[in-house]
Amino acid sequence: MLGKLVFFLIIAALVYWLIKARALEETENTDEETGENTENNVSPKALEEMVRCVHCGVHLPRGESVTSQGEFFCCNEHRLEHKDSDTSS
Ligand SMILES: [Zn+2]
Repeated sequence: MLGKLVFFLIIAALVYWLIKARALEETENTDEETGENTENNVSPKALEEMVRCVHCGVHLPRGESVTSQGEFFCCNEHRLEHKDSDTSS
């Protein structure tokens, strides 16, 4: 009886902690820009079709993103900047 309640509380705490950790991770990730362009991280049919700016890594709804040659960007500036830096093709 009590064990069930404790179990439920632990699950709730875990979920809460996970969400918090995720939010923290995302804010930190905007700073450290490693060269990982793993587009596969974003599943195409995710909730509201969130896409990731390949330049700065920020996530945003697809409707608000700038698309260029199958890649997504958070703004037009980053699209142009990424084009400049992307010389390997
Ligand atoms: Zn960006």
